[in-house]
Amino acid sequence: MIMSQHRKIAYFSMEIALEEALPTYSGGLGVLAGDTIFAALDLKVPMIAVTLLYRKGYFNQKLDSKGWQEETPVEWIIEEFLEELPERITLEIDNRKIQVRAWKFEIKSLTNFSIPILFLDTNLPENTEGDRALSDYLYGGDEYYRLCQEVLLGIGGVKMLRALGYQDLERFHMNEGHASLLTLELLEESRKQSGRDAVSEEDIENVKRKCVFTTHTPVAAAHSKFPMELVTRVFSNREVFSRKDIFCCEGVLNLTYLALNLSHYVNGVAKKHGETSNLMFGHYSIDSITNGINITRWVSPSFQALYDRHIPSWKEDNFSLRYALNIPKDGVWQAHMQAKKELIQYVNENTNIEMNQDVLTIGFARRAAAYKRGDLLFQDMERLKSMVKEKGNIQIIFAGKAHPQDQEGKELIQRIYRAKEFLKNDVHIVYLENYDLELAKLITSGVDLWLNTPQTPMEASGTSGMKAAVNAVPSLSILDGWWIEGCIEGITGWSIADDNQKNESKNNTREDAFWLYEKLGKVIIPMFYEEREKFISIMQHCIALNGSFFNSQRLLQQYVLNAYFK
Ligand SMILES: *Cc1c(COP(=O)(O)O)cnc(C)c1O
Repeated sequence: MIMSQHRKIAYFSMEIALEEALPTYSGGLGVLAGDTIFAALDLKVPMIAVTLLYRKGYFNQKLDSKGWQEETPVEWIIEEFLEELPERITLEIDNRKIQVRAWKFEIKSLTNFSIPILFLDTNLPENTEGDRALSDYLYGGDEYYRLCQEVLLGIGGVKMLRALGYQDLERFHMNEGHASLLTLELLEESRKQSGRDAVSEEDIENVKRKCVFTTHTPVAAAHSKFPMELVTRVFSNREVFSRKDIFCCEGVLNLTYLALNLSHYVNGVAKKHGETSNLMFGHYSIDSITNGINITRWVSPSFQALYDRHIPSWKEDNFSLRYALNIPKDGVWQAHMQAKKELIQYVNENTNIEMNQDVLTIGFARRAAAYKRGDLLFQDMERLKSMVKEKGNIQIIFAGKAHPQDQEGKELIQRIYRAKEFLKNDVHIVYLENYDLELAKLITSGVDLWLNTPQTPMEASGTSGMKAAVNAVPSLSILDGWWIEGCIEGITGWSIADDNQKNESKNNTREDAFWLYEKLGKVIIPMFYEEREKFISIMQHCIALNGSFFNSQRLLQQYVLNAYFK
């Protein structure tokens, strides 16, 4: 079967979050991929996306009474959501021939434009049991398993696209380094086409012209690297491996360097992250395109109705949210209270904590990783207690999964549980289980304040605060990632920083906690309870200034301008 629709951009990502029913993502990277693909649908950019099928999903999270996380596989019936394609390709891994198939999911617009997403799958009877399991788990298994998955995504993905008839793809976009082995397949294609025995400079130039790379990780140690021994075992010794300038040597294949060396355009995911990446990778030129979210899928039903009434073109043209300052304040407040009511109802039905709609509600939901410091608010519990007694009540909603192998992340959840117990007579706190797309939407739209406390410069961008902004929820955040661009103090939200010496991030936990309490106790709580009009004005500015910019329509337009069709 040859696909009829003409496609120019192939978007590769290890995870893609499209909808709740497809548990093929773990967090921010997958959500960004999904939001990018939805923007391609909005803007009719001829894209096709490639990822892996995860039969066991990411995982279901259960928390015991002490906050210890337990994981169970997600059961889902693939045939109910995806269409199996008849094509098969053969992938050679570790001297075995592995059969690969693809499942298709398609998102469609009202005008019948569509974007296909391919999920690669090795669970076929011809394959060994171990190989069949390659498409079971996202970020599971050992180094060998991971490398095989990356071969499946990169090399398998290109082969599958060709088998499906996509011969004229102009760009291959690698969303993070996991996909960078696709460059090896493209090099091979170029070499064979020219009839050469060895890869030449011309082949390298050919591949570079086609490739675009987005790096997401500001920590050098987190970039995937594999020992050369393992690499040559898994996909035999390729002639290009002798090129030290491409493979970054010292006996390891570094997938980030591979992508850097074979792309004509590279970007970080926020201005600051672009700068950090330039410092980290020396002589490469790394641009930045700040992340964005797909507005339509992140706006709560009550705000959808409000925008429909006041800014009818908001879905097709996200920039028009700039007019939000003209939406009457009481309309904004009512839409917000409706979203908040739904969240509080969910909390009251699913936990044994009774939350109150009129209390200032703070949200913190994201992957439970140590650098995000979900417990920063509990640095000084006595100060927190006396602050709410003097200034006004708060209640706090947490959610987030820790990676199954991240001990520190799991302990962080337990620390939050202990604080919740300790503060139970003063501050109502819940930790909602099983953070996913649906819960993310409910929480980011239903709280009054979005809290973000990463250690700099670890939050390359962050996107949950953008989801909050488009629902008129201001952020209180460390100046890192997107917030450096999105924060106008007292207009779109607040920074956790000393206002007199902003750009000096010392990453001192005690100091950060101090400024967190200062802003909360002296500015935000009093304004929320006593100067409601002023608070609502900030809510309007969240939509007008940040919603109109930190969206994936703008993101994709920047990719089109700077990377895809340049
Ligand atoms: C938006 C989102 C994330 C990413 O949030 P960050 O602020 O970037 O940490 C992670 N998980 C889910 C389910 C999300 O919806």
